[in-house]
Amino acid sequence: MTDFSQTRALFDLPAGVTYLDGNSLGPLPRATAARVAQTVQDEWGAHLISAWNTCGWMAKPRALGDRIGALIGAEPGHTVIGDTLSIKVFQALAAALKLIPDRRVILSDTGNFPTDLYMAEGLLKLLPEGYELRTVAPEDVASAITEEVAVMMITEVDYRTGRRHDMQALTQLAHDKGALTIWDLAHSAGAFPVHLADCGADFAVGCTYKYLNAGPGAPAFIYVAPKHAAEAEPALAGWLGHKAPFAFDLGYTAGDGIDRMRVGTPPVIQMAALEAALDIWETVDLDALRARSLELADRFIAKVEATTDLALATPRAPRDRGSQVSFRHPEGYAIMQALIARGVIGDFRAPDILRFGITPLYLSETEIDHAAEVLADILATNAWNAPEYKERKAVT
Ligand SMILES: *Cc1c(COP(=O)(O)O)cnc(C)c1O
Repeated sequence: MTDFSQTRALFDLPAGVTYLDGNSLGPLPRATAARVAQTVQDEWGAHLISAWNTCGWMAKPRALGDRIGALIGAEPGHTVIGDTLSIKVFQALAAALKLIPDRRVILSDTGNFPTDLYMAEGLLKLLPEGYELRTVAPEDVASAITEEVAVMMITEVDYRTGRRHDMQALTQLAHDKGALTIWDLAHSAGAFPVHLADCGADFAVGCTYKYLNAGPGAPAFIYVAPKHAAEAEPALAGWLGHKAPFAFDLGYTAGDGIDRMRVGTPPVIQMAALEAALDIWETVDLDALRARSLELADRFIAKVEATTDLALATPRAPRDRGSQVSFRHPEGYAIMQALIARGVIGDFRAPDILRFGITPLYLSETEIDHAAEVLADILATNAWNAPEYKERKAVT
């Protein structure tokens, strides 16, 4: 069992800060700076170009993919890292549509993160007439899975409300209708146990800078189920996804299995930060993490509801939520700015969501209580109602 009173010491959090935004950008692990410095100086600096071989840089996207795969229930050898999540969404979607050429509908929901929908729209412009992105309310996804649907592209946890879809049930429904599934795990990986192989998911994608703590700009990951690995086309046919990149053939031949989902040069320095972050995850029992996350979330919900009149936006049933708690308030932006000014960091999502990430690796009951108390005080005193809290910054 992971001892969550010990894991906080693995992170370098500023004093006086209660960090409830690890669902958006995870904090800095203590080991990261030295690991990155080592990669820069001892590898890049000392070995120059030979480091691609001598330091194993070229093999890292697969090795890191497998380490993430272990956290999301993927079969070894079927996950790879690289690029950003938006790019990986595009690749998964293009590959899935190609596998099912007689169907034309991409099904998604209005709780999806906009970039996933934008990538689908962009892809549709490259495809022949007749393809359609059908976006329904989250609660209507199950009934919208028809035999017209080629691909169901769903983000498991809603970035605003924290509502969680039932991956097992929706994947089964999709398969019953002959559709393929793409699961976006941006708010799942490192938030709770995910069982991709057991659920029979066809494709999955996600990022590593949220709950996994690999730092701003850290690479994304993509998973392709073994049954599709030999057929899925990467769409972005980059040289490092080629079967023999250093043969420098003029024509493209896809690499074996998941290797073909690589595109270009991997982000070596950022991979060092990802490695340091994943070292922490080696020690974490994900079932214990989930239990602790629900315990802290329930505590926060109870305290906030007892002391404020904020409306809970997150489902109450534990099985229907991820690892965040959200409340609605028309002045949510100003309230969040007032909280941040007092060292309680969450974030705001338009139009009215106050969002709090629950991350047991570095949050305690004391901090949960403190955050709830500061929030109650800001509301009771109307401290948020000040001009400096109402001016919108570029990143909310
Ligand atoms: C955070 C997030 C993204 C971000 O995509 P990037 O390409 O990494 O900027 C995409 N999709 C979902 C569902 C997210 O939560």
